[in-house]
Amino acid sequence: MIAAKGYAAQTSETPLAPWNFERRELGPHDVQIDITYCGVCHSDLHQIRDEWGGGIFPMVPGHEIVGTVVAVGSHVSTFNIGDLAGTGCMVDSCRTCENCQQGLEQYCVNGNTLTYNSLEQDGKTPTYGGYSNTIVVHEDFVLHLSEKLDLAATAPLLCAGITTYSPLRHWNVGKGHKLAVLGLGGLGHMGVKFGVALGAEVTVLSTSARKEEDARKLGAHHFIVTSDPDQMKAANASFDFILDTVSAEHDYNQYLSLLKVDGVHICVGAPPTPSALLAFSLIPGRKSLAGSNIGGIPETQEMLDFCAEHNITSDIELISIKDIDHAYERMLKGDVRYRFVIDMASL
Ligand code: NAP
Ligand code: ZN
Ligand code: ZN
Repeated sequence: MIAAKGYAAQTSETPLAPWNFERRELGPHDVQIDITYCGVCHSDLHQIRDEWGGGIFPMVPGHEIVGTVVAVGSHVSTFNIGDLAGTGCMVDSCRTCENCQQGLEQYCVNGNTLTYNSLEQDGKTPTYGGYSNTIVVHEDFVLHLSEKLDLAATAPLLCAGITTYSPLRHWNVGKGHKLAVLGLGGLGHMGVKFGVALGAEVTVLSTSARKEEDARKLGAHHFIVTSDPDQMKAANASFDFILDTVSAEHDYNQYLSLLKVDGVHICVGAPPTPSALLAFSLIPGRKSLAGSNIGGIPETQEMLDFCAEHNITSDIELISIKDIDHAYERMLKGDVRYRFVIDMASL
């Protein structure tokens, strides 16, 4: 086994603390990545606090992993030692179901293996994430990164990037569309960047009036403070799409009223608690309330290549791993500008 160190939550009630553990020895198709940076996703916080249930502890969070390949298995053909490489939210899947066959491993019928808080395909070995110094991943789930982009600012693309890129591509959001991005945090700020790059007219819907200047710098054309009834009324029935990145319970009915006929409200934000939906929020405008889960491996590579071509990365605050609790506190207050990334040299 390979000795690894990281930060883990031992239970849903305990804060993250240093923890030593082991990674598997490399199989013929495995790649070992020494982790340089790991992004901090709100999903990390939901999971270490076990807000979604079923948490596997000890838990090493982190699924926005970038670093350098330090070893490859005997049959690895697509990576060499010294390459930049990344891993996102998944490290394996059944590979045989109809969704896996189409590169939609995020919808694996038999259950994919997430990067942490999950079990390997053997059904018993827990996985540990990227708040650590090194990771071993099957080459099919490792992504190629561009040398052109800042590496730390590339890390959040592996989750916040693909999670916003995938639905925008799926619904063909682009020129001629009015897109609202609800919530300007890690996912939201990437949603703005991709929406603008794809040619949509982008409005940020935010609870934080203080984020307006940032929203415009990110490329948003309009900004609405959701607590202002006049601004909300003026936006009634005006959007083709809402990309909802909100992490806490909120009233979907309120936002559905902002959609045009045939408009689609796409949930990517995953509040732990249910929210009541009135059928009459959908019926009069033939509206859809939809969801989207990260993105498949081929599309993740496509997104990374798109980012390299369009010079898109995340706006980040680099932190030392010992400051992770403070970062979570700020995240809970909506004070993320716009993704925390852990410098793993601080481990
Ligand atoms: P984040 O950086 O904390 O951003 C969330 C934003 O939501 C906040 O900055 C805030 O923006 C807004 N917000 C927070 N509480 C709110 C409330 N009570 N009412 C209205 N708005 C509120 O989080 P993130 O990392 O972007 O993740 C967002 C959500 O997406 C999380 O639930 C996460 O688990 C989920 N997620 C889902 C997927 C997927 O595959 N579907 C992938 C990754 C993450 P404003 O200040 O602008 O209002
Ligand atoms: Zn994430
Ligand atoms: Zn599958």
